[in-house]
Amino acid sequence: MEWEASQQEQQKDESESFGASSSDNRKRRHPNSTDISTTRSQPLTSCEILERIETPNFEELARQYPAFREAWKDTRQQQIQKHATFSACVTQNFTIALTRALLQTYFSLKLPYLEEQHLCPPIPNRFFYVHWIHTQLLNSSNQIFGLDIGAGASCIYPLLASRHFRSRMVTTEVDTQASRLARSNVQANHLSTFIQVLDVEPSYSQQRASANDESPQTTSPRPGGPLQRAVEVLPATASPLQFVMTNPPFYDPHSNEHVTARVGDGRARTNMTVSEGTYPGGEVGFVLDILRDSLLLTTNKDNSQRSYLSDTTWYSSMLGKKTSLVKIQKILLHLLGPAHVKTVEYGPGHYTRWFVAWTLEQPIAAAPNAKCPPHEKDTFDVSLATLKEQESNTVFSAADAMREIVNRMVAFCESTPGGWDLMAQVVPNEQDDEADELITLHIQETMPQAITNFVDETQGDIERMPANILDALQGRDNNFLPQEGHFLVQVHVRNRCKDGNLNCFQIQLSLFKHSARGGKAVEKIRNSLEGEICRTNRKWRKIREREQQQEQQHG
Ligand code: SAH
Repeated sequence: MEWEASQQEQQKDESESFGASSSDNRKRRHPNSTDISTTRSQPLTSCEILERIETPNFEELARQYPAFREAWKDTRQQQIQKHATFSACVTQNFTIALTRALLQTYFSLKLPYLEEQHLCPPIPNRFFYVHWIHTQLLNSSNQIFGLDIGAGASCIYPLLASRHFRSRMVTTEVDTQASRLARSNVQANHLSTFIQVLDVEPSYSQQRASANDESPQTTSPRPGGPLQRAVEVLPATASPLQFVMTNPPFYDPHSNEHVTARVGDGRARTNMTVSEGTYPGGEVGFVLDILRDSLLLTTNKDNSQRSYLSDTTWYSSMLGKKTSLVKIQKILLHLLGPAHVKTVEYGPGHYTRWFVAWTLEQPIAAAPNAKCPPHEKDTFDVSLATLKEQESNTVFSAADAMREIVNRMVAFCESTPGGWDLMAQVVPNEQDDEADELITLHIQETMPQAITNFVDETQGDIERMPANILDALQGRDNNFLPQEGHFLVQVHVRNRCKDGNLNCFQIQLSLFKHSARGGKAVEKIRNSLEGEICRTNRKWRKIREREQQQEQQHG
């Protein structure tokens, strides 16, 4: 959660981006700003909405919403009196008025129940998160079912997801006052058939922290993080969740950050309740507790709660600090490999928010997230002259040359380079008529499927892995690697003689790594392949002589 920053600063930022004066405002007006209402025949796409709410037109909003008009006027008057920036004069009242105006304009949503002490959500980053999940993580056109952990009084994520994407949502809350307000907001929008707000008990970490604070201890804390708490209360009929989202409490209670003024301008932190603001270990603690739950809940096949999660469920979180993203991303990459982890950042400068998501689904070897960044060695040309024996008189066609290139790669793999037990296989072309032009080869490891990447990955880093996450891996029977193992190298051999590049063949590599170990293998292959194919030396002569002998014997 990004209390002080999100609530006021994000929206102050939006206000600032328009400047304090209406003339600035006119200058920055969105070209289609008169289109902001829902009177358009075609509903706006989520991208279009994002573009507009990022740079809202205050004048237009002021014309439509008296409460916003008043709040904007007050803020500008304050600004003149105090000779301060517009941003420094933004109040909770202005923030709420802006949030309500944007929700009404772009989503036909009302937010009547929002008490002063609760967090008022800035719409741009909240909608961005919902949009990212629906457009980048999920690929289903069917109705979506998702869980939001920590509804807040606004119930903002379920409202946005159900109104714009027509998703069904459950959302949990530990703060009964917040959940009561959340339910009222859902009802005010007639969305009760789409959204269910469920009260949950605090997680193990929360119970333990409060048991330490209040002595004598009454009951001992019950195991489980915020996701475990949610599945405990899901209705028996609930279908598997396609995604889990959350905007976690931001601060660790011992940091005291939530009660101290912000460094810099000394402004008080944004209105929020203690449960909105704090969690043991802050936002990192909250996400790691959900990660642990995700591993445990999917380990045991007999666990009845397992049915609430599918293999393809995406677990995700919004984060207020880049350092939190770095920590969490590192742990996820170590445990699950790059194909399972997605991240994105949104918003300018101080107002940036980070989003991280993971899935436990077995990835495909050529998963986009696992693709190694391009490198100059990934594309190279091979000429006919390099391939052909100088002394040979045989006619060497383009097809022969391509076969020769493939043979050299196969021989390279069979030589167990760097100790890697490799195999190379030609895979069929997608189009039949490509045969003369393109050969595709896959290089992978010959390995037993039982190896888990976790064992290989953590070595030096093992002590930095939280112990309770390591525990949660015990007894998992699946590994997080694709069928093909730790890596895959796709090699395309293209005949480019036609393009005027006489005698020229282009080799193009796409490398995919699923673990640190796989990363080492692809490096070895990338660094060796060109030299192996291009060198005309005794090695290749010998290989060919052997082949010829074999042919003669068979002939
Ligand atoms: N989703 C809202 C509110 C986020 S604040 C928004 O983005 O604006 C985080 C919320 O999580 C708070 O309302 C807090 O009460 C709630 N919360 C804290 N611990 C929780 C837990 N274990 N399970 C569910 N909700 C929890």
